[in-house]
Amino acid sequence: MSTSSGEAEDAQVIVVGAGPAGSTVATYLARAGIDVLLLEKTTFPRDKVCGDGLTPRGVKQLIDLGLDTSEQAGWVHSRGLRILTGDLTLELDWPELTSYPPYGVARTRHDFDDLLAKTAVKAGARLRERTGVTAAITDERTGRVVGVRAKEGQEKRPVSYRAPLVLACDGVSARLALSIGIDKQEKRPMGVAVRRYYRSPRHAEPFIEGHLELWDRSDPRHPKLLPGYGWAFPLGDGTVNVGLGMLSTSKSFRNTDYRALLRSWLDSTPEEWGYREENAVGRIGGAGLPMGFNRTPHYRDGLLLLGDAGGMVSPFNGEGISAAMESAQLAAECVQQALARSQGPSRERALHGYPLALKELMGGYYRLGNLFAKAIGKPKVMRAATKYGLRINPLIPLVYKGLSGCYDASGGDAVDRLISVASRLTPSA
Ligand SMILES: Cc1cc2nc3c(=O)[nH]c(=O)nc-3n(C[C@H](O)[C@H](O)[C@H](O)COP(=O)(O)OP(=O)(O)OC[C@H]3O[C@@H](n4cnc5c(N)ncnc54)[C@H](O)[C@@H]3O)c2cc1C
Repeated sequence: MSTSSGEAEDAQVIVVGAGPAGSTVATYLARAGIDVLLLEKTTFPRDKVCGDGLTPRGVKQLIDLGLDTSEQAGWVHSRGLRILTGDLTLELDWPELTSYPPYGVARTRHDFDDLLAKTAVKAGARLRERTGVTAAITDERTGRVVGVRAKEGQEKRPVSYRAPLVLACDGVSARLALSIGIDKQEKRPMGVAVRRYYRSPRHAEPFIEGHLELWDRSDPRHPKLLPGYGWAFPLGDGTVNVGLGMLSTSKSFRNTDYRALLRSWLDSTPEEWGYREENAVGRIGGAGLPMGFNRTPHYRDGLLLLGDAGGMVSPFNGEGISAAMESAQLAAECVQQALARSQGPSRERALHGYPLALKELMGGYYRLGNLFAKAIGKPKVMRAATKYGLRINPLIPLVYKGLSGCYDASGGDAVDRLISVASRLTPSA
């Protein structure tokens, strides 16, 4: 193959990053008979800092990809969410819906990402590990992305690869997008989250947990409400993934020691839960959560942004795997259509279908989420929301479905329709 500038092409599509977005899109494209080069800076299996939990919305993506999501296949199932806030504990089963299954799953990213990368390779994608992409190569005349530069192997040998289309799936660092000047939008919310694994008798609980109030009770006479929200996702293997996150809309966002915050919260949880230093497995890890489409455009000049690289973490709940895989599904469809057309305006039209499809699927919901993130960044609003929102029975399904993103976007019940209408009506920020 050769490019219009006469340079040899190495693939029809280059995918940068083999996380959930990259491995998923590589699988779909390879299954469609497209020659895909999947470049990944690490080697599998490897760890990735995450909560390791998927709501039913994420499980649908696994099913769409053809994966066996049964417990026998290594997934830990959850039947719903336990919400803890102050003196209130609610246990809510995942909703019965047309669009999503009634169970969530958890699995360490160590295993999960390895499984996804293997699925891509099995489908025919050519995975090159230890290949850290440093920048896009652009055509001097047109500015179009025609490949990538990378450093390969232990010796970091400089290499370059060329293809008519490049997919940025390189996560929150978004190095590829930055290399062609696609910056993040500071007005959109960002999150920071930290997590650690603990050996705990709660490892086989059927509910994943969301802690909407974090208390430091080191001085029992003066319990202190800490900023942020916590989670505990049982992994069924003797351990629980426990962590907390905070939004950039919160005043404390920049001046918080997140690791210390996690320790003071967990020291205040009941001793029998086991979230103590002596039961910790590994160190505390943390990373940023790019939310609410905080990096756009999602398509420009031959480069598509997927998953975290396009800022697709939900501002409602910090979940990013399902959106990464949803974006992969949409990107694969558009790329397949585009490559079936000759280079030029018609192919471009097919590619511009990708940001449109993303907007259609998540745009309104994320606009609503960005407003939500802005509001709950104020401790008073947050406290009122947890105090009243979860104590008024008719509001619970609305809060639950809205926050988890598990609702039927077309059809469904009155609550589903209300969320869909609110999403459509929310104006752009
Ligand atoms: C503490 C924490 C907890 C979280 N908990 C959850 C949760 O429970 N559920 C959930 O759904 N989401 C959670 N998220 C968000 C979730 O981790 C991300 O949204 C998700 O991983 C995004 O997938 P991705 O494929 O876009 O990016 P990533 O998973 O980040 O994958 C990017 C891949 O690209 C590779 N890469 C990066 N740069 C380069 C480069 N220059 N060249 C080559 N390869 C490169 C990386 O090594 C990696 O393999 C959490 C995030 C954090 C920080």
